[in-house]
Amino acid sequence: KFRLRYAPSPTGFLHIGNTRTALMNYLFAKHYDGDFIVRIEDTDLERNVEGAIESQFENLNWLGIIADESFLKPGEEKYGKYMQSQKFERYEKLAHDLINQNKAYRCFCTTEELEKDYEEQVAKGIVATKYSGKCAKLSNQEINSNIEVGKEFSIRFLVPEKILNIKDFIKGDITFDSKELGDFVILKTNKIATYNFAVVVDDFDMEITHVLRGEEHISNTPRQILIYEAFGWKTPNFGHMSLIIDSTGKKLSKRSGNALFFIEQYKNQGYLPEAMFNYISLLGWSPTGEKELLTREELIKMFDDKRFSKSPSTFDMTKMKWINSQYMKNLNEEQYLDFTKKFIDSNRFNISTKSIEWLNQVLLLFKKELEFAEQINNHLDIFFNDIDLSSEIIDGLKTIDNYELVIVEFKNQINSLTNWTTEEIKKLIKIVSELTSKKGKELFMPIRIAASNSEHGPSLADVIYLLGKEKVLANIAKIK
Ligand code: GLU
Repeated sequence: KFRLRYAPSPTGFLHIGNTRTALMNYLFAKHYDGDFIVRIEDTDLERNVEGAIESQFENLNWLGIIADESFLKPGEEKYGKYMQSQKFERYEKLAHDLINQNKAYRCFCTTEELEKDYEEQVAKGIVATKYSGKCAKLSNQEINSNIEVGKEFSIRFLVPEKILNIKDFIKGDITFDSKELGDFVILKTNKIATYNFAVVVDDFDMEITHVLRGEEHISNTPRQILIYEAFGWKTPNFGHMSLIIDSTGKKLSKRSGNALFFIEQYKNQGYLPEAMFNYISLLGWSPTGEKELLTREELIKMFDDKRFSKSPSTFDMTKMKWINSQYMKNLNEEQYLDFTKKFIDSNRFNISTKSIEWLNQVLLLFKKELEFAEQINNHLDIFFNDIDLSSEIIDGLKTIDNYELVIVEFKNQINSLTNWTTEEIKKLIKIVSELTSKKGKELFMPIRIAASNSEHGPSLADVIYLLGKEKVLANIAKIK
């Protein structure tokens, strides 16, 4: 059975980059009927951010990326804990096991000594920042007396000399010379495991079969493989996904121009989780065929681990919006109304004074137009508020020949209309057209501006109908 995991460090909130990692691991696992695991990598205690774990789970749930196993829902006991801070003793014990097998050693160097060492290396023209290996040469006697006097130590992995051939199922074959590494720390002086050590122990404990993550972790992979080998554990398959970049070609980040970074931001603007799931699945991966609008079920079915791209993928906000607008269009009326209502800005629009039927009709006018639900607020002013007729609109109106005549006739007709329906309003506009011999823009623009005090809007008869007679007459009166 395949077992894959998403292993966030709770140093921040769920963003596009880590969502892609979670989502691809999820699809991979589900395609093969395997398990998808969420594990919290919180060994770097100072960097942990309050609320980050909650944000991870809340937003993953919203997207429907649900873990089969996590600390909220642990699997079999043999898999161990799903949060690294609950496993410190296990890492410590395993680090000492490696010492006993001469595959790791205690390092008593202080930070100052390490710095001095490093400076000496630099002075000799050695660029490498790796550890000199000094403490590997200590005698048992020296070690014991250091321990006796209570000297603090970290534990370093004794890197064996070898050439590693890594088969990355995305990037292909990678060759790595372990000489470049230097003996690295696996347990810090505070007895807390480093990321590279804890990740191996956890992936082994949890019987992870495939490690699928971002390419920023490629450089960690040789260290991790050496640790598997030291324990005599089977290494999982590794795959590193290419970067996600923004429209300027830089790695997508908080500061990326027009692209939003955090999932929460999309949620708050009224994107649909299904649409986001769909779009994010296309970042650095593609299904066979031309179809891009795909449901979760289709994506699970079509997933193919040979279709990851080796080159960076661009996060395209325009496409994200387009996909979301397609999903909004496909909602049924009830779903659309329920969803959109949550995004109406109550500070600007007082919906409590209006009837539900009226509000629903207004909202439905924009169903095909919205890219995301919050945009509804760009359209509601004319229906709720007394808007100022801008001088641009007036100037525009004045460029239309005989606009006054159209408005006068329109006003007369409206005044005498008793049966207030969209059908009757359509007929009325026709009559105005006949009376003034105007059509097209010369007819519609003056009527629209007079009736709604705005140049833009959906179907004119619908707008007039929903504004109501009183409001339309008041708006007309504002035209001087
Ligand atoms: N905790 C690591 C991170 O957030 C993930 C490491 C991994 O997937 O191996 O980047």
